[in-house]
Amino acid sequence: MEIVFMGTGTSHGVPMIGCGCDICMSSDPRNHRTRTSIHVRVGEYAIQVDVAPEFRLQCLANDISQIDWVILTHAHADHINGMDDLRRFVDFRDGDGVPVYAFPEVLGRVKDIYPYAVRDRPEFRGYPAFIPHSVERNQSIEFPWGTIETTVLPHGRFEVMGLVFCEASTGKRFTYYTDCKSVGPDQRQLAGGSDVVVLDGLRQDPHPTHMSIDEALEVAESINAPQTYFIHMTHHVDHETVDAQLPESINLAYDGLRITI
Ligand SMILES: [Zn+2]
Ligand SMILES: [Zn+2]
Ligand SMILES: [Zn+2]
Repeated sequence: MEIVFMGTGTSHGVPMIGCGCDICMSSDPRNHRTRTSIHVRVGEYAIQVDVAPEFRLQCLANDISQIDWVILTHAHADHINGMDDLRRFVDFRDGDGVPVYAFPEVLGRVKDIYPYAVRDRPEFRGYPAFIPHSVERNQSIEFPWGTIETTVLPHGRFEVMGLVFCEASTGKRFTYYTDCKSVGPDQRQLAGGSDVVVLDGLRQDPHPTHMSIDEALEVAESINAPQTYFIHMTHHVDHETVDAQLPESINLAYDGLRITI
């Protein structure tokens, strides 16, 4: 399984518009964060988790030219506002719509924003087409390569889909818990045995709907995976300084990071 961190920033992105702070002005490319999403390759298959506003630029930067399934964790703008750019991947699929898996209320939001695109085939060649697949709470989704076990994470007024990828041929497990205020006992247990865990770790100061870095650290240490990455950081987080303070098996992710497990 290969994971590409396409974006690792919060909803403002970093640099933030009109901000001259040291991190926004930093020359360290790891401090430049587009909005959060990942791309997962398992054998010949490709799964896109969330479609950020910079999706097109992220695909160019990371050489992405295949998507077999889209999973949406929730309907916040920073996770779905790049979906029109899936049109190019419908071309690559000879006009077959891209299957989109999400909670029912998220699919409802997608239909409100992209009414022209929720259909089996594009209206005209070159248009996008999304085939909605409704996911129930705590449902496992079966794929030719294995399973994604889903769970529910609290995120203010929203419920976010937490994902645990399980590759059938290798038994490898990968947990992706973005945008959450906490991770409960059931969700920690589900993440147990993962080779890599990814957690929301917004910034040092507490926030009403995201975990702070200290809160994410507590969760990471209780799950105790061989490797944990934090994502969705603001312009308060300097990569080099904060990463150096974390335990050896816990790191900040950055845009363009690729890992194989
Ligand atoms: Zn700034
Ligand atoms: Zn969110
Ligand atoms: Zn977000």
